[in-house]
Amino acid sequence: MDSNIKVPYEDQDPQEVSSLLASLNSKSAKKTFKAKKTSFKIEGSPDGIVVDAWKFQEWDYKKHGLPVYARGLFTTKDRRGRDEICIRGYDKFFNIGEVNETRWSKIQTNTQGPYELTLKENGCIIFIGGLEDETLLVCTRSDVVSHSVAGEKWVDRQLAAIGKTRADLARELRKRNVTAVAELCDDEFEEHILAYGPEKAGLYLHGININIPTFTTYSSELVQQFAEEWGFRKIAVQKFDDVTTTREFLEKVAESGAHEGNDVEGFVIRCRMSPSPTVTPYSDWFFKYKFEEPYLMYRQWRECTKALIAGKPPKFKKHTKITEEYLLYVRKRLAEDPNLGKLYNQNHGIIQLRDDFLAFKKLKGSEAANLETEMGEDTSALITNDVVIVPIATIGCGKTTVAVALTHLFGWGHVQNDNITGKNRPKQMTQAVVEHLTNHPVVISDRNNSERREREQIIKDVKMAHTGARLVAMNFAHHDLDEVRRVTRERVLERGDNHQTIQAASEKAKVIGIMENFIQRYQPCDPEQEPDAAFDYVIDLDGAKDSRANLETMVQELHKRYPRLIPEVPSEQAMDDAIISALNNYKPNLRHKIPDRKGNKGNNAQTQQQPKVQKKKVLEYMSVSVPSKDINSALEAAFKGVDAETSKFYKQLQLTRRVQPMFHVTLMHRASSKDHPDLWASYAKMHTENTDPDGKLGSARSSSSVVFDSRIMAIVVRLVDPEDRWKCVNDVAHITVGTRDDGVKPKESNDLLAKWLKDGTGEETGIGERVFEPKLVLKGVVKGVLSR
Ligand code: GDP
Ligand code: MG
Repeated sequence: MDSNIKVPYEDQDPQEVSSLLASLNSKSAKKTFKAKKTSFKIEGSPDGIVVDAWKFQEWDYKKHGLPVYARGLFTTKDRRGRDEICIRGYDKFFNIGEVNETRWSKIQTNTQGPYELTLKENGCIIFIGGLEDETLLVCTRSDVVSHSVAGEKWVDRQLAAIGKTRADLARELRKRNVTAVAELCDDEFEEHILAYGPEKAGLYLHGININIPTFTTYSSELVQQFAEEWGFRKIAVQKFDDVTTTREFLEKVAESGAHEGNDVEGFVIRCRMSPSPTVTPYSDWFFKYKFEEPYLMYRQWRECTKALIAGKPPKFKKHTKITEEYLLYVRKRLAEDPNLGKLYNQNHGIIQLRDDFLAFKKLKGSEAANLETEMGEDTSALITNDVVIVPIATIGCGKTTVAVALTHLFGWGHVQNDNITGKNRPKQMTQAVVEHLTNHPVVISDRNNSERREREQIIKDVKMAHTGARLVAMNFAHHDLDEVRRVTRERVLERGDNHQTIQAASEKAKVIGIMENFIQRYQPCDPEQEPDAAFDYVIDLDGAKDSRANLETMVQELHKRYPRLIPEVPSEQAMDDAIISALNNYKPNLRHKIPDRKGNKGNNAQTQQQPKVQKKKVLEYMSVSVPSKDINSALEAAFKGVDAETSKFYKQLQLTRRVQPMFHVTLMHRASSKDHPDLWASYAKMHTENTDPDGKLGSARSSSSVVFDSRIMAIVVRLVDPEDRWKCVNDVAHITVGTRDDGVKPKESNDLLAKWLKDGTGEETGIGERVFEPKLVLKGVVKGVLSR
């Protein structure tokens, strides 16, 4: 070792120390930091010396203009009453990127080599100084260490080994005006992450600081020299001349997580720094490079992989879920390629294997490591498949509509209880769901599950059949039972696609009975209790809300909870289209909603009464009914690709299910029979004398455009009837497409069209019009419609 290197030395300037203490003690309101003083009477000091320990708040170190940045500062008074520093720790140093000065760009321009790298120790820092009365002062950062404690024991042990005394060391330190900074690494004293067995335990000297306010510290060479002379353990130092090599080295070690076969927490880098090198001289300056996530996770993976290869159980406490998945993956890879394990043990392919896994999971390392910190042990964010959506609802809440829209958006599986027949339907349902899981990431198990026991069944059975499955409740909450009842009845009876099938009052009563039965049995979801507690997640919808709104809630909640299942929330437009398509294309099946309990002979009382009821009915209006298919596709075409404002009302009608299920032109309504008694009489006669089983009287042709405002939409119709039999009493013959809500009656189409004729379209009138192109030619069927 070169003994000629100049040892830095500087005397204490009592004046300077006094003014430092004055500013630490200051009670001035302008003071930007806090300094807490604790006094200690030093045990075994012949002069009865008292030292003051100064403690600063960690965040204050980031402020500019502090009188001192030492982390660990002890002061006292000498025999002549002058202030002196007896212990001086390192200036607080920061992790890479933690403050402006430790950004690589700054380090590149403002620092000067050599760069001395030491492992970031993970023991307990010990400061050693010499007092005036030759007492050796041993301290931790803010405490004076007592004789019984390991730190002092180790000092005694190492001094004894070289035949020196505490007073010798105290004198030497005092002569140099320095503080020795060491790491106490001793598992008996305090267990740390890295093992320090008896053969490695002791005081590792890593620095010697001059006891002056400005941070001035020995080079590592001098530190090592001193350690050797005084029986300290030495720490390894890696030295680089330039900053680029330093950086490359650090990043390489971070990547592998190991250095010379050992796990390391990070490095402390010692160099010199000037905030502006052309103006201010360089002074001693440290920063640290701590290995953080994902490197700590990578290290864990490496150790676990080695355990697997050795046939030992891998042990891990952090990143549990992702590590389990990693190991599952590794097991497969090891089985596929026996060479992999061999090479791995020779430290080959460690990074490759880890990267392969991350690519397989489509995760970045940082994302994988963050999963746990962000949400504890919850790994929902990783889920990419095996999710079963279970509705909790009653009839008509829109389960199937939302389900069909979801499958439309994401291609998920959909199993409908309504389509299952035969024995043990619950079991069949489960089977079908599990089967669908093999080729769909998510399956919607479409059934009401209004009762808890039904939920219990589906949860249990699915989990039994498919252990990895997660069940998510699509909870159509019934906050306002009456409102849900009203909305669902209206949907199912009045405006639903069952419109045609549920015309008769008796049928209606039956459907209402069945719906009511579900409402009566409905048991709200309670995630606090079994069985609902077994749901991985409960998404609260509102049974009285539009399916469009409920769909959006589903999508957003699923995206939030399982970002990999729905990486991106579809656009409003896409969700509109999904619901519209679900409402248009899917025809609910009432088979199971109207079970014929007494067998299928149609011999129940209500069915038998039907013809009688029908006889009593009178003619309500004469109509030309036209095919829905033609109207719907003409409307689609008319509003396709137009601006949002123009298509707004049409879309609204679609989304709120307010487009009529069937379309007709009213020739004449009963209400106007007084104004046109002859015509009405003739229509009534035609109707009564009609023998056609479908009530068909004849046909008529029409062509048209569509007119609308924000309340109602109607198709303008020109009746073509060569025989002139069919007369329309309305000023403008039309087909009402739909109305905003039940408050707007279809006959208000007349008002709309009267205004349209008079004022035309445009912003002032609030009336819009789309002309059908090509011209829409409908073939209609004339028939009488009876009162309900
Ligand atoms: P489920 O019994 O819970 O499966 O309910 P469906 O999805 O079959 O919906 C019941 C009826 O209401 C069907 O005729 C749907 O077309 C209709 N429907 C569904 N969602 C809406 C909506 O948002 N608004 C309106 N007005 N009708 C809807
Ligand atoms: Mg359904």
